[in-house]
Amino acid sequence: MRVWGRREREYVRAYLLHEALIEIRYLAFRPESAKHPDGHLEQIRVIADVCHNLPTAGGLRPDEFDPFVWMWQTANAYQREWLTRHLDKLGVDYSYLIESPQLPRPATPPATRPAFRPGGWQLPRTPGGFKALDTVTLESLARELVVLEPSSSRYVERQLAHLQPDGRHILRARRKGETVHSSDGPEDFREYHALLTMVDGAVVVGRFQLRESSFAALPADLTRLRRFQLAAVPPRRGERDVYLWGRDHEATDAACSQCERLAKPRHTS
Ligand SMILES: [Zn+2]
Repeated sequence: MRVWGRREREYVRAYLLHEALIEIRYLAFRPESAKHPDGHLEQIRVIADVCHNLPTAGGLRPDEFDPFVWMWQTANAYQREWLTRHLDKLGVDYSYLIESPQLPRPATPPATRPAFRPGGWQLPRTPGGFKALDTVTLESLARELVVLEPSSSRYVERQLAHLQPDGRHILRARRKGETVHSSDGPEDFREYHALLTMVDGAVVVGRFQLRESSFAALPADLTRLRRFQLAAVPPRRGERDVYLWGRDHEATDAACSQCERLAKPRHTS
């Protein structure tokens, strides 16, 4: 299996982004040219969606997941056809995308997370590293990032809007050797892995960037943690990442009031 080198990655990345922009621009001018059964806006959306990780896909750091492989593995049928068409046109050998082993979800917690076994809940060896948060607490911690980085607001608010309002969530710090989704910083912001209860009751794995100091200041209430663990039984197989949950959500709940609220332009005055 031959993985792309740096120059090849740069080349493919620039090519796909260029092609996506051209196609999106054309679809905006000529909606009737859309080939997607749901029309030009959906076609624009799925193209933008599959290219989502490309801006940072040039380099490949050893402990990070390969954005190209992730892009390929999470692409739906339409997106995969789009990728195949353009990679064929470019004439690049992309067999490694097909042959790469299935990536763990970027946010999948390691086996040491609280796990449900036939005998009941198995606690990790360091239960103190886990904290149980209700939605209100998680919201206030997650929004600390927005103060420093207003550009993160859209992403953070979208995540928060889809949590169950009275849901419970279990979080812990990312561990050494685990996939990095957001690098450390600014200041003492770190990536936390989470078991989240979504608005439809689904329990998914996700991540939040939180201040280390704020997380440390939360009480380590083990009784509460145990209670929350019992409520948040993750499916043992087919565990979903919050990103894939979001995609299912868009497909099945088109009339979501939270999505509608977030899509509205914000008042700036
Ligand atoms: Zn929604």
